Amino acid sequence: MSDFYINIKADKSITYDAIVVGSGISGGWAAKELTEKGLNVLMIERGPKHEHIKDYKTASLDPWEFEHRGRTTNKEREDFPVIHRGWAASETVMDSWANEKDAPYTEIKPFTWWRSYRMGGRSLLWGRQSYRWSEMDFEANAKDGIAVDWPLRYKDIAPWYDHVEKFIGVSGSKQGLPQLPDGQFQPAMDLNIVEKEIAKKFKSHYNGNRHLFIGRVANLTSDLPNRGKCQYRARCWEGCPYGGYFSTQSSTLPAAMATANYTLSPTL
Ligand code: SF4
Repeated sequence: MSDFYINIKADKSITYDAIVVGSGISGGWAAKELTEKGLNVLMIERGPKHEHIKDYKTASLDPWEFEHRGRTTNKEREDFPVIHRGWAASETVMDSWANEKDAPYTEIKPFTWWRSYRMGGRSLLWGRQSYRWSEMDFEANAKDGIAVDWPLRYKDIAPWYDHVEKFIGVSGSKQGLPQLPDGQFQPAMDLNIVEKEIAKKFKSHYNGNRHLFIGRVANLTSDLPNRGKCQYRARCWEGCPYGGYFSTQSSTLPAAMATANYTLSPTL
């Protein structure tokens, strides 16, 4: 815990309007919004710096340049048992994950928790599928009598979905489905020929009641300021040299830094 404050102690004369803890997706957004509103923001991050492009060390390597061709070692399987439960274990990104021996957690019921303790956190390591909740989702638990009713509804949050989608860049197609509201999409990626045929069959077989369409994903199909379109390299987790997908590094951090109201204090 004390490591958090190493750099902050350096200059006690500076005061901040807000302190953002962590530089993952939420922290990055908080820093962007607050700095753009004129607040002087300190972001503290438990992990080391991980700079956009410069620190994406494996992103341009070829598969044969990895010692184990992308596979993990027996030692890594022992040290990262939770990461090895799913698809996250790859030689290309093993240094991204929090060491599970150093950071154990209590798991009473099965709970797979993948953690990344470095600048940007899991914003570099997320799935990028980006869907809006619908009115049905906000009403569901109240209707089913489970837990506490949401204090807001879709119409309250829809403008914020707009705000986020426009900034991060979400590609997708509008479908007019009440259960999956449309958003502020960049052009959709294309389905392949087989998928198109299946989508057609779904439509005719189920009288238009079943739908197959391309995912809504925070990978760019149009350029955004300082970010280029996705090149379909399928290597997002290693960091994207084009800024082709949304991460703290590619999106919210540059916006916060452009304000001159932002200070980052990573543990180095
Ligand atoms: S966003 Fe696109 S170009 Fe960038 S790493 Fe991912 S797949 Fe590759």
